[in-house]
Amino acid sequence: MSWKVDYDYFERKLKKEREEVLQEIKDLEPKVEGNPLEDGEENTPFPTHIADIADIESRIDRDSYIMNQLTQKLKDIDVALQKIIDKQYGICEDCNVQIKKDRLKVIPYARWCKSCAEKRERTPWTKEKL
Ligand SMILES: [Zn+2]
Repeated sequence: MSWKVDYDYFERKLKKEREEVLQEIKDLEPKVEGNPLEDGEENTPFPTHIADIADIESRIDRDSYIMNQLTQKLKDIDVALQKIIDKQYGICEDCNVQIKKDRLKVIPYARWCKSCAEKRERTPWTKEKL
């Protein structure tokens, strides 16, 4: 059941994933309401037609949702990187069982084993507490 964790391999994988998430957040940030642009640039669209407003609102909703997912993913990646330092990486936070290698290869920032994650939600990254 248990396997030897290749910390270097997962550290590289997590760092790569972290960069990708940061880039995605950077790309999305200007589009999401409530996230003022760092450079102070104002490009918030103020449409005049109701249909346009509705369209933009639903787009903002979706972008905010994706943004939340990305922020959560980033947190999980940071948690996983810390666990590598602490040599606690790959252990399910709920049942303390070692998470399967195949699962970590797909989701290197997984905090729970498959069954615990399914108990919480379908997504691998989820709220701190339910
Ligand atoms: Zn578990």
